[in-house]
Amino acid sequence: MPLIVVAVFYRKFWGIAYLLLMAGMMIDVDHLVANPIYSPGRCSMGFHPLHTWLPIIVYALMLIPQKTRILGVGLCLHIILDVIDCQVTNGIWYSNV
Ligand SMILES: [Zn+2]
Repeated sequence: MPLIVVAVFYRKFWGIAYLLLMAGMMIDVDHLVANPIYSPGRCSMGFHPLHTWLPIIVYALMLIPQKTRILGVGLCLHIILDVIDCQVTNGIWYSNV
């Protein structure tokens, strides 16, 4: 999925696209501290420490300064994809574990 986004929108800006992907992957390190690491029916939102409201507000604020904007886009994109995943698999937007 991120590769499709890159191919369509960032063909001319692969350096930026790479940063976006790195940003998205950065917050998935918190999936690794979860036990078990991957569970198909689980909603990441609200479960993993970097997928809760406080960090999400920080990601949104990162869109404002030009310096951190590209990272903010990557992080917000990641959150949006995880939210969609929760909605599709569990029918919820945010888990209250
Ligand atoms: Zn995630």
